[in-house]
Amino acid sequence: MTKLGSKHWVEITDLTDKGDGVGTLLGRPLFVEGALPGDEVEVKLTQIKPNYLHGLIGQIGTPAAERVDDFCAHQACGGCQVRTLSYQGQLAHKQQLVQREMQRFGLNCEVKPVLGMAEPFAWRNKAQFAVRQIDGGAEIGFYRKHSHQLVACDDCAVQDPLHIELLARLRQWLQQHDVRAYDEHNHSGDLRHVVTRKGFATGEVMLVLVTRTEVLPAQAELLAQLADLNLTTIVHNVHGERGNRVMGLDNRVLTGNGVIRDTLDGLDFIISPLSFYQVNPSQTEVLYKQALQLAELTGNETVYDLYCGIGTISLFLARHASKVIGIELIPEAIADAEENAKANGLSNTEFHVGRAEVLVPELYQQGVSADVVVVDPPRKGCDQALLQTLTAMAPKTLVYVSCNPKTLARDLAWLTANGFSLEQLQPVDMFPHTLHVEAVAQLRWQG
Ligand code: SAH
Repeated sequence: MTKLGSKHWVEITDLTDKGDGVGTLLGRPLFVEGALPGDEVEVKLTQIKPNYLHGLIGQIGTPAAERVDDFCAHQACGGCQVRTLSYQGQLAHKQQLVQREMQRFGLNCEVKPVLGMAEPFAWRNKAQFAVRQIDGGAEIGFYRKHSHQLVACDDCAVQDPLHIELLARLRQWLQQHDVRAYDEHNHSGDLRHVVTRKGFATGEVMLVLVTRTEVLPAQAELLAQLADLNLTTIVHNVHGERGNRVMGLDNRVLTGNGVIRDTLDGLDFIISPLSFYQVNPSQTEVLYKQALQLAELTGNETVYDLYCGIGTISLFLARHASKVIGIELIPEAIADAEENAKANGLSNTEFHVGRAEVLVPELYQQGVSADVVVVDPPRKGCDQALLQTLTAMAPKTLVYVSCNPKTLARDLAWLTANGFSLEQLQPVDMFPHTLHVEAVAQLRWQG
């Protein structure tokens, strides 16, 4: 009889989306946190279900060829899921993940090797710290894996060092002035989150402190304690609602002018607290250059940039197109996009606030068409109403930038069944040591 707590030697053959190793025991998949494909490990059974098993990793008999030492001092937050897989191993696995999703939808297209980083550390330009009450005092850090429990860390290998310095300073301030942390169960307390963002090219830094109430406790003391860091702007964000959303809509500028600037490939961008901005700047340039290259612009085209955020891809395209029309849901991001176009002297752009699946059909009805379309939707992919309009519009080239291979494959399957051909598929690693995969696909209209 195989019992809970019994130990078994198992060969690990796969990884789940969450980074857990998968082997087979009793004819069922066995999930083992911390195990890698290629490992032969001893596993203690912790859960026995009719269709699957869970186990705890024990001794590693034969380690996977791609197994490396863990670089993380805390090993507790849910940020990096595959720290013990070599970086080359991660890139190979991500290529396979994209391939697998394409095959699931019957799509035959070569998935190119993932474009990775030369030095995959200190790449994050943005940190989001949670603040919670622990043992009667406020603590600041990241969430533990799969939970809202706080891990009070004082170092992180993927963050820019400045975010870590700010973390230490903020912890001191919290504890010296008895700032009350937010309690999500009772919806009480004051400070909920702290968000820091840095323009890697400019060195400009934004600090956003998110409170439940209208008052930022010990505000004067905070500003004094951070004065020597010369932060570009400090913003107080008020978020009085329950829920997992990190920031509210109410921003109050405490120092600076509420935005920071960054530069990508010679283009300047201003970034507001609520605007989306890619978190790995060096790989963002790689990604946008791929999108531009796959758009194959000659200079005469009208181009749609859908889900355009602050107009980053729009401006990359506008330097090589006749006209670019950007569409985005968040009004604040469109305000940034308009400013950005002006600041870079790219007057061949226009931006609209709205849902791509609503605005594009409306504009198309009014006769606004495009020769080339770029889409960069959130994880849930494109809405059917948008895909249908794109097939009616029949642009010669469609570039699909995706942060989720599952919805990418789903949408590519629909598009290729409705007039487009899939020409190229290039993944780019925007998030080293995680299992997130970004990919750019090029489609051509075949009619
Ligand atoms: N291309 C941009 C942003 C990509 S992130 C960049 O690289 O920076 C996806 C963006 O889509 C976000 O800015 C989000 O606010 C926006 N968005 C989400 N749903 C949308 C919808 N239905 N229509 C238009 N924009 C949407």
